[in-house]
Amino acid sequence: QAADGVGQRYAFYRPELNRDANERFKLENALRRALERHELELHYQPQIAVDGKSIVSAEALLRWRHPERGLVPPNDFIPLAEETGLIVEMGEWVLHQVCCQLQAWRRAGLPVVPVAVNLSAHQFDERIVGTVRRVLDDCGLEPGLLELELTESASMADADKSVALLARLKGMGIRLAIDDFGTGYSNLNYLKRFPVDRLKLDRSFVRDLETDADDLAIARAVVAMAHGLRLSVVAEGVETAGQLALLTDLGCDLVQGWLFSRAVPAEEFARLLAAGQMPAAA
Ligand code: C2E
Ligand code: MG
Ligand code: MG
Ligand code: MG
Repeated sequence: QAADGVGQRYAFYRPELNRDANERFKLENALRRALERHELELHYQPQIAVDGKSIVSAEALLRWRHPERGLVPPNDFIPLAEETGLIVEMGEWVLHQVCCQLQAWRRAGLPVVPVAVNLSAHQFDERIVGTVRRVLDDCGLEPGLLELELTESASMADADKSVALLARLKGMGIRLAIDDFGTGYSNLNYLKRFPVDRLKLDRSFVRDLETDADDLAIARAVVAMAHGLRLSVVAEGVETAGQLALLTDLGCDLVQGWLFSRAVPAEEFARLLAAGQMPAAA
């Protein structure tokens, strides 16, 4: 009897799996259309000196303005974009959008700051060098205004290759940051060899900073280590004045979080740039 084959086929067509596949297929197509129909947009979150005033840089964060579902956060569609490979095209769009936006702001006379773009592990191969060069060229932007954020897992899968790739990017004059630092496989040997400029202390260490002595110890160690390696530190997810005070004490350089601002649409970020500093904060 062909029980095995039939069994497998039966299992494959289980209604709930079928429905999931359908959902997936629909979402995948919708995502593709979103890219074509310009339903994707970037919001900008300021990265602020610990004085709480100066906007030193910003991070571009992707959103999908879905016609029915409203503003969809990246965690709801980037994983699928990565699975399907669409992330490469999407990521290139993000780079282009950010670089040309920066150049447009500059032409308009705004005091622009460097903007960081998140890079998926899927984008982190040889092709990224050409992509970045072409995008900078297209937009006429100087490389020093573009920062790339990579996670430890993306950059440490093949360390020797990564070091070489990062060195080429760094050689072009762009800035590099390690995102979500402390959540991946923090291989300090590699970190030592990576030509990066910044570490971003993951939000999970910032959240309970005021009550958890272990988190405080980790934050302190990360800041000390980063400074020893001549890197600056951005604390992610700063929500309270208490967290800010502790991070200031530790000598953290920059903070990014809802205490000061969420990621805001481009026009709103342009107004912050024009004002030259954050409005009187909490
Ligand atoms: P991430 O790169 O670690 O970005 C920081 C996330 O923390 C953002 O979430 C930001 O909105 C959020 N955040 C900032 N301050 C606070 C705070 O004070 N409290 C809390 N609770 N959250 C805060 P978002 O925008 O939803 O993005 C989630 C993730 O999606 C990002 O994490 C990044 O990994 C990914 N992502 C976003 N845009 C892109 C993109 O253009 N390309 C790629 N490949 N990934 C992206
Ligand atoms: Mg990031
Ligand atoms: Mg992060
Ligand atoms: Mg994070």
